[in-house]
Amino acid sequence: MQVSTVYSKAKKLATSPSTFFFATAFLTWPVLAELEAFELFYSFSRDHENWGIDEFAMLGVNLACALMLSLWQKSVHLKRLSCEKEAERARAERNASHDALTGLNNRRAFTTIMKTTQGKLSMKNVAHVAMIDLDRFKPVNDLRGHAVGDAVLANVADRLRQAVGLDARVARLGGDEFAVLFDMRMTVSDVERKARRIVHMMDQTFDIGPNGVSISCSVGLVVWSADLSIKEVMRRADAALYKAKSEGRARFAWYDSELDAQSTARAALEVDLRDAIQSGQIRPWFQPIVDIETHDLVGFEVLARWQHPDKGSIPPQEFIPIAEDCGLIDRLSHTVLRQACCAASAWPPELSLSVNVSPIQFASPEFVENMKGAMDTCGFDAARLIVEVTESSVIADFDAARTKLSALKEMGISIALDDFGTGYSSLASLRHLPFDRVKIDRSFISRIEDQPTNQKIVQVIMDLAQGLDLDVTIEGIETAQELTYLEANGRGQGQGFLFEKPLPADEVLWRLETMWINGRIDPTEIVENTVQRTASHRDG
Ligand code: C2E
Ligand code: CA
Ligand code: CA
Repeated sequence: MQVSTVYSKAKKLATSPSTFFFATAFLTWPVLAELEAFELFYSFSRDHENWGIDEFAMLGVNLACALMLSLWQKSVHLKRLSCEKEAERARAERNASHDALTGLNNRRAFTTIMKTTQGKLSMKNVAHVAMIDLDRFKPVNDLRGHAVGDAVLANVADRLRQAVGLDARVARLGGDEFAVLFDMRMTVSDVERKARRIVHMMDQTFDIGPNGVSISCSVGLVVWSADLSIKEVMRRADAALYKAKSEGRARFAWYDSELDAQSTARAALEVDLRDAIQSGQIRPWFQPIVDIETHDLVGFEVLARWQHPDKGSIPPQEFIPIAEDCGLIDRLSHTVLRQACCAASAWPPELSLSVNVSPIQFASPEFVENMKGAMDTCGFDAARLIVEVTESSVIADFDAARTKLSALKEMGISIALDDFGTGYSSLASLRHLPFDRVKIDRSFISRIEDQPTNQKIVQVIMDLAQGLDLDVTIEGIETAQELTYLEANGRGQGQGFLFEKPLPADEVLWRLETMWINGRIDPTEIVENTVQRTASHRDG
């Protein structure tokens, strides 16, 4: 026990009322005994019996006892009050440092823990930090409500604690973002083993609600040596997390300095994207879709294109994830669809328009309203529209997805399941949701004429679609041999570079007026035209 503690305890004891009482009693007792006070009092009261001194003395003793009892009661009460105060102070301290929902350390407490660790770091003695973000959590929160979202977060915290064990401090930094500071004794391979465990545990379905909840998590890892500030180490962990996400999510990635260049470029693109949407740099292009048997043009798939003033053409696979991450996807999709509907209003009304919908956009509560708003601007006929969704949009919650898709169907819109066969629950999606069409992914079509396995897969999908009364679109037809095979063995609609690459709206209009007069696209003619165009472009 420290000297200061002993001193403060002694001081407390010395100043307490009971100590004062007993001390006074013990100090006056020898004096009173020496004077034989009791005998004096006794004889005095006997001598003056008629004064009733003994009755007054009894009253005095009674009063003294009552006073002692009330003092004792008061001191018990004061003690209880001080215990309650102490507990309240401890609770307030805990609330200030812990997250109420998960019971984990909060950002503030994590920073304090980091500060303590920072003092122990050297260039040799390093620590490791992990930043963790849940994948697909937003749709869970939006579609299934905040109560389910909260339950998921609490369960995530439990799994995190289990996954890292006693060798790490875990914190919830906010929203669906968590951090782990590993014990300094842990090596890189220990940390990787824990990260793998975290990813694996989050991949297991959470037993929440009737269908359970499936999410996953991405983990960014960083080595923390003495030369890095807390701010810098957290920034690096964040960059590593983005790397894990961009590599396909549900994995971990280490920070490397190459990431800084990438994230600077990404941050710049994010800033540019806001302006690009506003200033019309993002436009719809249109890839023709034809009937495989007759080669009649039946419609177009709308594909977003960003013509950046300095960086040139940026592919959708690069800017759509950025738009999703920074909350711009609704605005972006709205401007693309609005422009596409306005352009297609001038084309023959029998031509359909297929539009892609991203999972985050699909999860938005305003999704159906936004689609309607974009079509209404140009009075576009909803019956011409086909909405393409991938299974990642719908697997989080089939019931919510069915409600939205049914609302679209009521408006006359058709629904296609895009990239069919590439996910892991395509059949479950088909069973639960009101699709009109499946689009067979182009990975099955490449060199199909001499790929027996792909031939069988495509045949099974076609039979399945026929059995379920669904139309089929075959994507990615690139060669005459693939087309010949599909003409002999397939049916439905096709799209691919053999017929045409995506084109801007004015090129489509020009072709509709000249080359596609009979609404038929002849692949051989197109190939010749493309060769001629490329040659004249090159010569010119
Ligand atoms: P997707 O929906 O599967 O679209 C088809 C992609 O395949 C397009 O790429 C198209 O140009 C390409 N493609 C078409 N035929 C062939 C072919 O014969 N061979 C090969 N190798 N590729 C072919 P793109 O335009 O780069 O789009 C990529 C993806 O980006 C699309 O895949 C879609 O998921 C997404 N995307 C494009 N535009 C939008 C949009 O406006 N909104 C959303 N949410 N996603 C979009
Ligand atoms: Ca598509
Ligand atoms: Ca596709």
